[in-house]
Amino acid sequence: MEHRPYIPYNRPTIGEEEIAEVAATLRSGWITTGPRTAQFEEEFRAYTGAAHALAVNSCTGGLHLALTALGIGPGDEVITTPLTFCATVNTVLQVGATPVLADVGEDGNLDPESVERSLTGRTRALLPVHLGGLPCRMSEIWRMARERGLRVVEDAAHAVGSRYRGAPIGSGSSDAVAFSFYATKNLTTGEGGMVTTPHAEVAELMRVLCLHGISRDAWNRYADRGKWYYQVETCGFKYNLSDVQAAVGIAQLRKQEQFVSVRRRLAAVYAEELAGVEAVETPEEPPGVRHCWHLYGIRLAPGMDRGAFIRALARRGIGASVHFIPIPLHPAYAGRPGLAADRCPRAMALYPRLVSLPLYPAMTEEQARCVGRAVQEAVRS
Ligand SMILES: *Cc1c(COP(=O)(O)O)cnc(C)c1O
Repeated sequence: MEHRPYIPYNRPTIGEEEIAEVAATLRSGWITTGPRTAQFEEEFRAYTGAAHALAVNSCTGGLHLALTALGIGPGDEVITTPLTFCATVNTVLQVGATPVLADVGEDGNLDPESVERSLTGRTRALLPVHLGGLPCRMSEIWRMARERGLRVVEDAAHAVGSRYRGAPIGSGSSDAVAFSFYATKNLTTGEGGMVTTPHAEVAELMRVLCLHGISRDAWNRYADRGKWYYQVETCGFKYNLSDVQAAVGIAQLRKQEQFVSVRRRLAAVYAEELAGVEAVETPEEPPGVRHCWHLYGIRLAPGMDRGAFIRALARRGIGASVHFIPIPLHPAYAGRPGLAADRCPRAMALYPRLVSLPLYPAMTEEQARCVGRAVQEAVRS
């Protein structure tokens, strides 16, 4: 086999701009949450068109804050998808609520009809995940939530730069939207995240909960007692983002639209390369949304050996991954009826067919064609 350079499944796209922002932050003498975090919050808020944005140290922390601030807890059911990362259900469990799986639709996202069938008298919130950056059918989810008085929290870990009916993810009718800036995500700060919300009081509560439960007002209220005085108003968490991380985010955010256009171009190259390959189904962008293509997830023909396919790609120097191992398959959730496999037969049937191909802004069109050809070879081998 000819030698080809390795194309990893993912690589962060970090340039001199990020390095310069970090260096300036380190030299400034302020390295934890401060002016750069505030700037990043404001610029991210403007980018998504949200009313409020809070920088956090992970999407997981953001989901936990959002569920807590919205008062979701013991006795409440939260409906979510089986095709997600464990953090989505873990945070529901950590607030003491009960996660309940609905099934996915043909697009791999939460199916509103299945959500409807999963509603009970205890349902308090819906937690859709925009798988790979493909926006969920939000208008149906928002309608159901409106009719039943439910909260909506979006796991938008993959969806920085995605748009639903013209509006960026983060600015819609949900009560909170959590983004991830983990190393593999579209916008990265190494570790980090952001939560947006339309509600001023939810934003303020999340801000207090984010830093031990110390309220900002408390600092001002007791100013006459000295700068050292503060009071803990509620038992909070430690989920703040540092200025060093925010510096990376500020530089990344400036490139985000360009990143999305490169991702879209690469997705188009894949669609072209794989168009005639019978053993492979390629993902589509439905009308009315902008897919940010965080992931390019193909589906193998039913019955194909996915392990052999991924190994054949690896022999050709190409990394691949799977999104996601369905929630019911993890031992941590065994014995929870809300998270049982029989709740989501479509997700379980899709799982053995799922493969995510490399896609990141630092990838070239030629590399995407190279991956496309390797897929064609791998399905024949
Ligand atoms: C990455 C990811 C998360 C967690 O993000 P962190 O920032 O690492 O906490 C949550 N949900 C989904 C769907 C993810 O892919």
